Amino acid sequence: MVKRKIIKIDEEKCTGCGACVPNCMEGALQMIDGKARLISDLFCDGLGACIGHCPEDAI
Ligand code: SF4
Repeated sequence: MVKRKIIKIDEEKCTGCGACVPNCMEGALQMIDGKARLISDLFCDGLGACIGHCPEDAI
C-alpha cells in the first residue's frame, strides 16, 4: 500500500509565524503553543498546499 505524503513540521525551524495555517486547504494546520501543528493526519491529504508558504522552510 502506498502511503500518502503527510507533511511534517520541523518545530526547531518553525517560528510560529502562522503563514502556513491559512494555506492549508484541509484545515489540518493550527497554531498551538506558538508552533504550527498538524492537528489531524486525516485532514492532511498530501496536496502540499502549505509547502512553500513557510518562510522558514519548516514544512
Ligand atoms: S509557515 Fe513555517 S514558520 Fe510559519 S508557522 Fe508555519 S511552519 Fe511555522
